[in-house]
Amino acid sequence: MNYTQILNEIYQEIKPYSNVGEPASYIPELQKVNPDSYGICLRTIRGAEYVMGDSDERFSIQSISKVFSLAMGFCLEGETLWKRIGVEPSGSAFNSVIQLEIEKGIPRNPLINAGALVVADILLSHLEHPEEEYLQFVRQLCGGNKQIKYNESMAVSEREHGYLNAAIANMLKYHSNIQNDIERVLRFYFRQCSLGMSCRELAQAFIPFSNHTQPFKFDKITLTASQVKRINAIMQTCGFYDEAGEFSYRVGLPGKSGVGGGIAAICPRKYSVAVWSPRLNKKGNSVMGMKALELLTTKTEVSIF
Ligand code: GLN
Repeated sequence: MNYTQILNEIYQEIKPYSNVGEPASYIPELQKVNPDSYGICLRTIRGAEYVMGDSDERFSIQSISKVFSLAMGFCLEGETLWKRIGVEPSGSAFNSVIQLEIEKGIPRNPLINAGALVVADILLSHLEHPEEEYLQFVRQLCGGNKQIKYNESMAVSEREHGYLNAAIANMLKYHSNIQNDIERVLRFYFRQCSLGMSCRELAQAFIPFSNHTQPFKFDKITLTASQVKRINAIMQTCGFYDEAGEFSYRVGLPGKSGVGGGIAAICPRKYSVAVWSPRLNKKGNSVMGMKALELLTTKTEVSIF
C-alpha cells in the first residue's frame, strides 16, 4: 500500500475544510493553539511510519487519554469494573449530566466524561502514585519516551472552568459511584486530559491496541488479547460520543477523539493512525481529522467491515 501517496492525496482533498469549525473554547488554554495546525501519522504494526504536516507537534490529547486510563482500570479492576460503568453508546454529549441522573449514577460507558471519572476514581483507589504511574504507562506505550508530560497550565485552566465536570463528579458521588474525594478525582482527570502528545507518539501508543494478538504487557499493566479486543469494541461503539455511529459509518475503525482536535484510530492487525486538527464540529470532534480518516479507509478500501 502506498501510504505516502495516500496521505498526500488526503491532504489535498481535505484543504477545502480548513476553515470549517472552531477550536474548543470552554478550556481557555486550548485557544492558544494555532487552529490551522494539521498533522497525521500512520504506523504499521511492523513499525513503518508515514507522516505529514505537524505530526511532531504536541497537543493536548484530552479525551484520547480515556483509552489509556481504561486499559489501566480494566487491568487493575477486571470484570468488576462493569458493575460501575456500562458498555453502551451514550448517544449524548461527552459531558452530559441528564443521562447520568436518569441512570442513577452509572455512566453509559468509560469513554464519556462520567465514565472516565469513575475510571479515574478506580485508579486512585488502586495506585499509590496515580499521576506518576499513569504517565509512566503512557510513556511505556511509546517505548519509554520521557518527553511526554502533563501540561499543568492546561489542567489548571480546565479546573478553573470545569463546572460541568464538577457537577458530574458530584452526581457520581451522590450515587456512591465515586469513593475518593471529588477534588482529587477531578485533579487526576484534568491532568490525564492535559497530557501533551504528537501524532507520531499517539500512533505508537495505539499499536498495542491494534496488534492485540501480541502480549499487552507494560510493567504492572497487562491485558489479555480478549480484554484488548473489548477495549477496541468500546472505542468502536463509544469513541465519538453522539457521533460514534457517524464515525463508524464514515470511517469504520475503532478510535477515540479529544477536544484538543486529535483522533487516534486503529485498523486491527494492520496499523494505527493519529490525526490532529484543532477545528471541531458541534459534537466536539475534529472536522479535518474525521474527513482525513474517512478518506484513508475509502482510498485503502480497508476498514474493519
Ligand atoms: N477534558 C475534557 C472535558 O472533560 C475532555 C473532553 C473531550 O476531549 N471530549 O471536558
